[in-house]
Amino acid sequence: MKISSVDLSKITTYRFGGVCKSFIEVVDKEDLNKLNEIVLGKENVIIGKGSNVAFSDKEFQGNVISPKFTTIEEKSETEITVGASVFLPDLARYFKENEFSNGEFLIGIPGTVGGAVKMNAGAYDWEFSDLVLYIEYFDLKTSKIIKLSKDNINFSYRSSQNLDNKIILSATLQIEKGDIHKIKSNLANFNKIRKNSQPPAIYNAGSVFKNTKDYKAGKLIDEAGLKGYEIDGVSVSEKHANFFIAKKEAKSLALYKLVQHVKQVVDNKFGIKLEEEIIFIGEFDL
Ligand SMILES: Cc1cc2nc3c(=O)[nH]c(=O)nc-3n(C[C@H](O)[C@H](O)[C@H](O)COP(=O)(O)OP(=O)(O)OC[C@H]3O[C@@H](n4cnc5c(N)ncnc54)[C@H](O)[C@@H]3O)c2cc1C
Repeated sequence: MKISSVDLSKITTYRFGGVCKSFIEVVDKEDLNKLNEIVLGKENVIIGKGSNVAFSDKEFQGNVISPKFTTIEEKSETEITVGASVFLPDLARYFKENEFSNGEFLIGIPGTVGGAVKMNAGAYDWEFSDLVLYIEYFDLKTSKIIKLSKDNINFSYRSSQNLDNKIILSATLQIEKGDIHKIKSNLANFNKIRKNSQPPAIYNAGSVFKNTKDYKAGKLIDEAGLKGYEIDGVSVSEKHANFFIAKKEAKSLALYKLVQHVKQVVDNKFGIKLEEEIIFIGEFDL
């Protein structure tokens, strides 16, 4: 187990965050067993690729736990167990190389399997929960490793339940062989759609707000006239209004302020309360 002081701005896609003096890299089950004393009574945040989070600019006083579980194991013709730290675009490519279908939607989501389980990441009418059979996690409270079936996670749109204070170690996914031409054409198509509709993966964390069956957050923000609106170096993307882009020197507080402003304007104009998909971590004083 490695514990070090890390500048959190170096490990998230937004490049936001202060120092964390207790950044814990966990590589195996032996490391997990050593966590008990360290995590007790502290705020503990588990981090994957940091592609859905915005840390405060202030020092983070708790522990940030970074699991490093990267194995992929085919258990049978229908099941595969994937380590929580596997990068989703790599998983999409693994699926393609093995001619497994249904993983193409992961190609442009720059997070990990652990993050995809927690967030129920999805795109193009697919959600990670469509693939999940069960997961294995380490419970920070009881120090036990538990298997949890999909039914007990209660997945819904960009949301999961019963996973707080738990380090997801792996996810067992259902696999099926598909038509390689179809897989390749889906991958190319999804890459193209993303390139045309979204800004690149730097200095943002994907969709800021959740969509619902009644509205698309980006459309509301656009119709509220907020495309390009900027606060202290963070602005609503001109390309996709549900992406907020930070300039290199911008601070997390500016994103926080922009999110509050956009929520207020959309509420005033449409009477709709947008819900954040991005997770703010730490203190944000306006
Ligand atoms: C350019 C861009 C495009 C994006 N497009 C999409 C998209 O199309 N669809 C989509 O759904 N999302 C999208 N996202 C958001 C993001 O990539 C996903 O939510 C992804 O699943 C987050 O994974 P992560 O490893 O980065 O998680 P992090 O951001 O590190 O963490 C997110 C949450 O998951 C938890 N978590 C992470 N790993 C673990 C673990 N091992 N155990 C327990 N909890 C864990 C964290 O504690 C936190 O609550 C996009 C982001 C960017 C920057």
